[in-house]
Amino acid sequence: MKVNKNYKNIAQSYLFSTIAQKVNEFTKNNPDKKVIRLGIGDVTLPLCEAVVNALKLASDEMGKQETFKGYGPEQGYDFLKEEIQKYYANHNVELDSDEIFISDGAKSDLGNILDLFDKDNTVLVPDPVYPVYVDTNTMAGRKIIFTDANAANDFLPLPDNSIKADIIYLCSPNNPTGAVYNKDQLKKWVDYANENNAVILFDAAYECFITDNNLPRSIYEIEGAKTCAIEFCSFSKMAGFTGTRCGWTVVPKSLSFEDMNLNKMWLRRQTTKFNGVPYIVQKGAQAVFSDEGQKQIQQNLSYYKENAKLISDVLTKHNIWHIGGKHSPYIWLKCPNNMTSWEFFDYLLNNVQIVGTPGSGFGKNGEGYFRLTSFGSRENTKEAVERLDKFLQ
Ligand code: PLP
Repeated sequence: MKVNKNYKNIAQSYLFSTIAQKVNEFTKNNPDKKVIRLGIGDVTLPLCEAVVNALKLASDEMGKQETFKGYGPEQGYDFLKEEIQKYYANHNVELDSDEIFISDGAKSDLGNILDLFDKDNTVLVPDPVYPVYVDTNTMAGRKIIFTDANAANDFLPLPDNSIKADIIYLCSPNNPTGAVYNKDQLKKWVDYANENNAVILFDAAYECFITDNNLPRSIYEIEGAKTCAIEFCSFSKMAGFTGTRCGWTVVPKSLSFEDMNLNKMWLRRQTTKFNGVPYIVQKGAQAVFSDEGQKQIQQNLSYYKENAKLISDVLTKHNIWHIGGKHSPYIWLKCPNNMTSWEFFDYLLNNVQIVGTPGSGFGKNGEGYFRLTSFGSRENTKEAVERLDKFLQ
């Protein structure tokens, strides 16, 4: 028996364990000081009432003979896919129901989709980046090349025709930088992919934070995307489903390579390896699209957006370069006085007891940058902002 030795090549991530270790040490030595965590990437507000009611009703249905459900369709129930179709139609994207596949979240499918691609493809990943793209391809033994996201390109790298890539990851709004591609920029990637016979894996997990109607929430708003892109989306940040688990993946039927159709391949893959998201969870997700659900989730999203504005405003006041926070829960700032990411981490922890995430943990171009998030409580965010304001005077 031989094991998959590619696992030896996965970089050990010490980022969050090192953060926890440093915070624990600080609180042990300073038990009277309150530490505020603005590093979290998880939501903190509970599920909205419309979702909770739908979950309860669906649970009751499962307990009655007449309404009990066993295995459901692997690709998701029509009632949820129809709502997602309407959601896309709101921003002028027409999808067939069988182009939508309900998932247990974006992360799983971002990894699972790789079943469809040959091992010899070259993968292009922006740096800094959500680490899942790199790790899943490393596990499969694929060659990864990086494209630099930096201040010179506003952390939005564009295609370089001298580089030949087969699988391209794009994440907009971006984790960790909060940067968002506009339609012209995305069109450049779509054209590159179509011309180079490449596929784009578009991670739209944060699309719900976009407030400017001119910015694309889906890659399918761009002409030509249906022949080169797969899109991943999630109820996690949109409706607080990080612990409830539901998302969706769009694989257009017009996506064909080497006489093989990716939509058909994905259906075959899912019906073979996946037995669907629980009925109860899909009913909860359906309620997100009800009038009540939409109102309630928008309240939660506004809450996070206001937190982001508070953080962004104090940074602007003290001339600290930053992006994000507008169409994203993430604020990406340049560490003042040319501090490294970890120096700034220690500096904030020791002086104002605020915990963020060192940018260097997301790739080499993250060095010298720092990520703060708006997922904390309003009370804590306000207190953190006051501390920063006083300290940065
Ligand atoms: N994609 C990005 C860019 C993320 O930051 C995250 C989670 O933080 C995910 C995907 C995972 O989403 P899900 O909870 O749907 O698996």
